[in-house]
Amino acid sequence: MEREKLFEELTVKNEKKIVLAVMDGLGGIPYRDGKTELEMAKTPNMDKLARESSCGLAIPVLYGITPGSGPAHLSLFGYDPLKYEIGRGILEALGVGMEVTEKDVAVRGNFATMENGIITDRRAGRIPTEYNRELISLLSKEIKEIDGVKIILKSGREHRFVLILRGDGLSDHVGDGDPQKEGLPQKLPEATSPEGKKTAEIAAKFVKRAEEVLKGKHPANTVLLRGFSKYPGIPSMEKIFKLRPAAIATYPMYRGLARLVGMDILDTGETIADEIDTLKKHWEQYDFFYVHIKKTDSYGEDGNFEAKVKVIEEFDSLLPEILALKPDVLVITGDHSTPSKLKAHSWHPVPFLLKSDYCFNDGLSAFNERECLRGSLGIFPAVEGMALMLANALKMEKFGA
Ligand code: ZN
Repeated sequence: MEREKLFEELTVKNEKKIVLAVMDGLGGIPYRDGKTELEMAKTPNMDKLARESSCGLAIPVLYGITPGSGPAHLSLFGYDPLKYEIGRGILEALGVGMEVTEKDVAVRGNFATMENGIITDRRAGRIPTEYNRELISLLSKEIKEIDGVKIILKSGREHRFVLILRGDGLSDHVGDGDPQKEGLPQKLPEATSPEGKKTAEIAAKFVKRAEEVLKGKHPANTVLLRGFSKYPGIPSMEKIFKLRPAAIATYPMYRGLARLVGMDILDTGETIADEIDTLKKHWEQYDFFYVHIKKTDSYGEDGNFEAKVKVIEEFDSLLPEILALKPDVLVITGDHSTPSKLKAHSWHPVPFLLKSDYCFNDGLSAFNERECLRGSLGIFPAVEGMALMLANALKMEKFGA
């Protein structure tokens, strides 16, 4: 039987509440004093919880695969990331709150600087978001349609924006229109297969039209388009798992991911404390909460070991507030590892902690990579995590007689 069908059949609604706290890029490898960030961090609350919880290490996608946050999150939400591919354009579009339909191809855009046909700044000096909004409203007014395909634009932060092409027969078989490096000529989007020809042509026309409109708007006098992607039809968490899910995340991409699987997106502030306040405020309304903490990943990518440690400690200091809500199931994990030593995402399995009234008490002395290795969950595919959460919330019936 298909995985989704199985869950659809077995899951039941009940009053129990699940919290999935995801510290982005949580996992690390030994670095400072031979310790990982989690080992270095002072985390008395998580350490105490580790004693009473089932722990293990989750493999985001497959052994040895370094995932982006998109597929890594899909796994945590219980969806096979190899089955449902989400393009960056779609993620970005959802993240800025654009509605995406089956007819759409979504594209990430950058304002950029071009001098004599050469791209001299791929981010147009990171123009202020306010100025970006002015330019997007100008472009939206001037370019409404190309060859019968609707043009929909929305500003992101600084130099970023999202372009949606809406029409029949569009394809995402289009390569990036981005030279990737400064000092190279402007590059227009090109089809990667015959199917993508029409879409690539329209995208290239959009770039040309945009350049006309942006003439004299130096440094934002051209646009780069990349991440062409179509809407993936993912069945909702409500349908498959019978959950009423909500997402608390500060960054657009993660809100977009959550929306893709049918979560309600809750308004929240910038800090972890704000996010936990949001959790408290909406506690009665939902039975599944995804809480995303971004900065662990950002500092990991910066190679800033100490700052990543601090974010982990900050979360730990606020953990009692989550525990005070008495979630029936609490999971603390990451979507993937972002070791400061690598300054990048990595393939390493991620510490995973699950606390419920029915979990095995592993008796670990701390919550970190090395201790989790001794936990009762062992090393397991992250995509199985959702089943464990549902089972521990008594939301799944018996399979077979
Ligand atoms: Zn991530």
